[in-house]
Amino acid sequence: MTENIVWHHQKVTRADRAAPKNQSPCLLWFTGLSGSGKSTIANALDVALYDRGYHTFLLDGDNVRHGLNKDLGFSDDDRIENIRRIGEVSKLFTDAGLIVLSAFISPFTSDRRLVRNLFPAGEFIEVFMDTPLETCERRDPKGLYEKARAGKIKHFTGIDSPYEVPERPEVRLDTSTMSVEECVERLIRYLLDRQLIFSPPQSLQR
Ligand code: ADP
Repeated sequence: MTENIVWHHQKVTRADRAAPKNQSPCLLWFTGLSGSGKSTIANALDVALYDRGYHTFLLDGDNVRHGLNKDLGFSDDDRIENIRRIGEVSKLFTDAGLIVLSAFISPFTSDRRLVRNLFPAGEFIEVFMDTPLETCERRDPKGLYEKARAGKIKHFTGIDSPYEVPERPEVRLDTSTMSVEECVERLIRYLLDRQLIFSPPQSLQR
């Protein structure tokens, strides 16, 4: 179907777009159990980067499921297609020169690998939220564990559906022992060390 579609090489490259932003485009892929802190940390990092003048975009489960992927359910095929589209959208945003933060449980290694393979080496940063299930379940921010334990939600990750632990994540965070600020600091340090962000511009006070 795509055989007659020719990729147009754009005159303004992704590097051109990123350079004035003092950053190099990349995707931070937050993965972990429900309640492990993906959204909280991704949002806090988004704020911290924005305040320092960097250009970011945050994608998370709900905003994508309500729009782009509202035609998809939770069958195996739809779940794979959900992640594939998120990966492709993340890629487009990095092509625009942005630092993209994506927060999805993404429990299966094969799905995460599929997204990783869309990116050049070093641009896909797997952030494994290694928060113990007991902590996630105690927090139960959306009341989902309670429902899953009561059998009202089937195939709930961590309860009756597996979470495949990343083997070599670029960053590992356990929010049962690290504060939000510590997690954000660790991620900013990672981005600075890998030269994905450069000498932070003057902080813009909110
Ligand atoms: P997820 O996106 O992985 O489902 P959320 O970020 O929605 O997780 O929920 C994590 C919950 O844990 C939030 O209610 C948050 O306030 C709470 N929490 C407590 N301590 C921390 C911490 N150190 N880091 C992140 N979240 C924390």
